[in-house]
Amino acid sequence: MAVYLDNAATTRPCEPAVSTVFQNMVEDYGNPSSLHGIGIKAEKNVTEARKSIAAALVCDPQCIVFTSGATESNNMTIFGAAKNYGKRKKKIVVSALEHPSVAEPIKYLEEKEGFTVTRIKPSHGGTVAAEDFLAAVDDETCFVSCMLVNNETGAIQPVRKIFSAVKRDFPECITHCDAVQGFMKMPIKAAELFADVIVVSGHKVHAVKGVGAMYIRKGIRLAPLLLGGGQEKGLRSGTESVPLIAGFGAAVRALMPTMKTAHDNAEQIRAYLLKKLSKIEYITVNSDDELCSPFITNFSVKGIRSETMLHFLEENDIYVSSGSACSKGAHSSVLTAMGLSDELADSAIRVSISRTTTMGEIDLLVNAVQKGHMSLAKVKK
Ligand code: PMP
Repeated sequence: MAVYLDNAATTRPCEPAVSTVFQNMVEDYGNPSSLHGIGIKAEKNVTEARKSIAAALVCDPQCIVFTSGATESNNMTIFGAAKNYGKRKKKIVVSALEHPSVAEPIKYLEEKEGFTVTRIKPSHGGTVAAEDFLAAVDDETCFVSCMLVNNETGAIQPVRKIFSAVKRDFPECITHCDAVQGFMKMPIKAAELFADVIVVSGHKVHAVKGVGAMYIRKGIRLAPLLLGGGQEKGLRSGTESVPLIAGFGAAVRALMPTMKTAHDNAEQIRAYLLKKLSKIEYITVNSDDELCSPFITNFSVKGIRSETMLHFLEENDIYVSSGSACSKGAHSSVLTAMGLSDELADSAIRVSISRTTTMGEIDLLVNAVQKGHMSLAKVKK
């Protein structure tokens, strides 16, 4: 049986998500904008999903907009906010840890649209200091962005602390949180995060790929990326992907009741993994001990390049990542920003667990890493 430990890249869709997608393809296949019964049923299914995502974020369903995923949501937030709020104020403050779907649109605004960008570096543990953020934000700042959980290290960022202080001193500044790796893994209450926009993605929470949602606080006006039929309150024109949206709702409903148990279980698995890794002298754990999601652990196997170890593990039917799946093996800007040496950054492995990961799978992983180190280190000599 394959040992899949790459859940930060994507998760296996759960049964309720798959059966709901199927149902919405073969039976409730109407267009939610149609006025007849089949269309109305499809609209009902979208509404139900909207309520489920809103319940998970503890917000009004009216604040939820469905998109194709977090990449689109992040782009829409950044370009949409720049257009509406960045005419006179041209400063952006962002963590240096962001996913490319945040970092790249911001870089575009910097290079092509005359924005000034301050990137806040993390500490060695991978967490940014709220004070550094606050020192960088001023009257000229239109946009502040900080992710909730880093996708490479699992480091939990002090988003509430940053955003509450920003909103207190600069209420007009837009606050944006990419919460993809925290959603359904830790409690998120929209109002308590002081975020104007929160972005989440379906396929990271056992729904299927190609659907995401964003919370947009009442009163915030983002310029849409797509114009057309005016779906999703004019923010995201185009016929809604009802099967994917309904499946996303079903996955969230299925996970909600056991979020706490799943988190506690992940804590135990992580503790078990860390204990085993701590006994291996050529392994350095890059994730922080405390301020870390239990679902992601990043460590380096000194002397063995990430890709080499990844392929060795793959031959043993164990699937991990060499960092961010999206960067396809490119040098990790996150680990570099944390101040890791090239040697450690080049030998980093990301293990991301799910609700179904077992201690037995961790045993298989650690044994295989040790076996890999023995044979690959020999090859090098
Ligand atoms: N943000 C973070 C933190 C992520 O981990 C990912 C997925 N790698 C994304 C955004 C992009 O999500 P999507 O695949 O839904 O576009």
